[in-house]
Amino acid sequence: VDFLQSLPKAELHAHLNGCIPLQTLTDLTEHLTLPADTTDEIAATVARLKSGLTLNDVSEFFPLFSAIYAITSTPSALGRVTRDVLDSFLKAESNPPPGFAYTPAPECSYLELRTTPRATAQMSRYTYLTTVLDEIEKFSADQAALIVSIDRRMSDADARECVDLAIALRAAGRRVVGLDLCGDPGKGDIATFEKHFKRGKDAGLGLTLHIAEVCGNTTAESLALLDWRPDRLGHATFLSDEHKALFFADLLQPGSVPSPATESNSRRNGAYKPCIEICLSSNLLSRTVQSLESHHIQYYLANDHPISICTDDTLPFRTTLLAEYAQLLAKPPLGLGLGREQVKRIAAMGMEARFVQGRVEVK
Ligand code: IMP
Repeated sequence: VDFLQSLPKAELHAHLNGCIPLQTLTDLTEHLTLPADTTDEIAATVARLKSGLTLNDVSEFFPLFSAIYAITSTPSALGRVTRDVLDSFLKAESNPPPGFAYTPAPECSYLELRTTPRATAQMSRYTYLTTVLDEIEKFSADQAALIVSIDRRMSDADARECVDLAIALRAAGRRVVGLDLCGDPGKGDIATFEKHFKRGKDAGLGLTLHIAEVCGNTTAESLALLDWRPDRLGHATFLSDEHKALFFADLLQPGSVPSPATESNSRRNGAYKPCIEICLSSNLLSRTVQSLESHHIQYYLANDHPISICTDDTLPFRTTLLAEYAQLLAKPPLGLGLGREQVKRIAAMGMEARFVQGRVEVK
C-alpha cells in the first residue's frame, strides 16, 4: 500500500455521477424532497447499492443513472456531490474505519473528472457546468480539471449546446480540458457528433471516446471514431487486434499487418498512440471481460502501448483507484502479478496522458 500510495497517479476516466460516495447519496435521499413518481425507483436503487450491488450484465448498469440523476438535479445537490467526489479522490480519508492498517493518503495526485451537462427543472446546462467547475477550481490546476461528456443519446442540438458551452467556458478561462463521448454503447448514431467533436478539438480540447465497449459495437463505428483521432480511448475492449495494428502504428509487427486496403494504408502512416483508459473492475463486473487473464490490458502491456488505470464508476463497481492499482501488483488469479517497476511506469503513463498539459497533436 505504501508503494502504491507513493506513486504520482492520474485518474483520467471517472464519471461524476458514477463516483458519488454512498454516504453522500444516502444523505441526499434523506434530505431532499424527491418527485413522487421517482421515489420508489430511487429507494430501490439506493437499497441495491447499500446491500452490495451485483451487476449480472452491462445492460443492468445504465438504468441506474436515471435514479441517481433524480437525486442530483438541483445546483445544491450537484455542488455537494461534486465536492464529495473531488474529496474522495484528492483528499486523504479523514475518518478511516477502525483497523485501518495504513496511513490514509489521497487516492490520486490529479483527477480529470468527467460529467454530462444536464438541463433540469432547476438548472440550465450552463449552471450545471459552472456549479461543477466552481468546485473543481477550488483545487489547483495540477490537481483537478473537467472533461465535458456528450451522451450518445443526445440530439444534434443538445450535443452542439454542450460543446459550445465547453468551448466558451474554456475560452473564458474556466478549467475545461476535454470532451468525452459516453453513454449506453448500444444507443445513438455517432455520425451526429463528429462535427461537434471536431470543433472542440480545433478549440484545443482533448478528445477521449468510449469505443468498442461492448461486442455489439460495430467495426465500422470503431473505425469512424478512430478517424476523429481521439487523444485517448475509453475501454476499447472489443477493438480487434487487426484494428489496433492498423491504427496504432507502433504496434505493427512483421506478419501481423492485415491485407492492405488503400484506406488502411493511409491510416498506417505515422505513430498514433492514443492512451487507453483501462477500467479493470468495471469491465469484469459488467462482464464485458471474463477474467484478468483475458483482459485487453495484456495486449497493451505486451506492446508497450500507453495506458492509464482508472476506476470508471466507483459507486456501482465498489472500487477505488488504489484498489485498481492493487490488481496490477497482486498475483494471479486475483491480479496481474506485475512488478513494481512496471506499475511505476504505468502510473507515469497516466500522468503523461493528462489533457491539462495541453493536447498532444495527433496527425
Ligand atoms: P455523469 O456524466 O456525471 O452524469 O455520469 C454518469 C454518466 O456517465 C452515465 O449516464 C453514462 O452516460 C456515463 N457512463 C458511466 N459509465 C460509463 C461507461 O462505462 N460507459 C459509457 N458511459 C458511461
